[in-house]
Amino acid sequence: MSAAFPLPAHGWPLFQPGWVWLVGAGPGDPGLLTLHGLNALRQADVVVHDALINSDILGWAPQARHVDMGKRAGKTSARQEEINAHLVALAGQGLRVLRLKGGDPYVFGRGGEEAQALAQAGVPFRVVPGITAGIGGLAAAGIPVTHRAHNQAVTFVTGHDQTGASPASLDWVAIAQGSQMLVIYMGLSHAATITARLIAAGRPADEPCAILAHATLPSQRLVETTLGQLPMALQNSAITAPALICLGPNVALRAQLDWQALAPRMAMAAE
Ligand code: SAH
Repeated sequence: MSAAFPLPAHGWPLFQPGWVWLVGAGPGDPGLLTLHGLNALRQADVVVHDALINSDILGWAPQARHVDMGKRAGKTSARQEEINAHLVALAGQGLRVLRLKGGDPYVFGRGGEEAQALAQAGVPFRVVPGITAGIGGLAAAGIPVTHRAHNQAVTFVTGHDQTGASPASLDWVAIAQGSQMLVIYMGLSHAATITARLIAAGRPADEPCAILAHATLPSQRLVETTLGQLPMALQNSAITAPALICLGPNVALRAQLDWQALAPRMAMAAE
């Protein structure tokens, strides 16, 4: 890593040839990559990344070959087995393989499956955690994922299962009743079903709800609505993935805590 970066007491880890590092890129804003992530990018021979990884972040590995494993116009994304096999093969060539994934590699990102494949193939690997969209993206948008006065638990849910269907196997009653705050990843396509299930399970239709898209990026959009109005709000907003749906009392705290909107007003008040 360049001298411009602080050196921790034990130095930065050396990326050994033949290793795979599974690195979380954070929710979008390149500033939310970790220093370990940057250190990995500086040393990698090949970066295998998903679609939607910020181009600034990829630009921090100019020496590496970049392999896009995400969706390409018209083509579906590479199958998971192909990605696993590719990672194993690249490591077998003695390369330093950086597998770069959005958010945190182990949060709804199949990072666990990839690490299992590496372990099974005897490929040494390291995991570099990242800031997950459902925590850091919300924080940056003015929604604290926990707040002592409002919630003692938070639930992270995926809006679709392995087949792409809405996860019928989930116990929606338990989810609805288990915690005050729900954060739903990949929930756009099944929002109407999810809304109906949550209301049927007792969540009030007038509960504060937000759709947060492209969190921490210049294209960020946030729509505040209520649970009952969610499907309609989605239809009317033309919001596109990636987006989170969050539900619960903390959504309303945004009125006070949206620091991006508050900063200019506070600066003016201080003048
Ligand atoms: N590993 C990632 C999640 C991968 S699943 C993480 O930890 O954040 C992909 C889903 O994550 C998207 O469909 C969306 O629900 C959510 N997501 C990822 N980045 C996002 C962003 N910048 N804004 C809103 N949602 C995001």
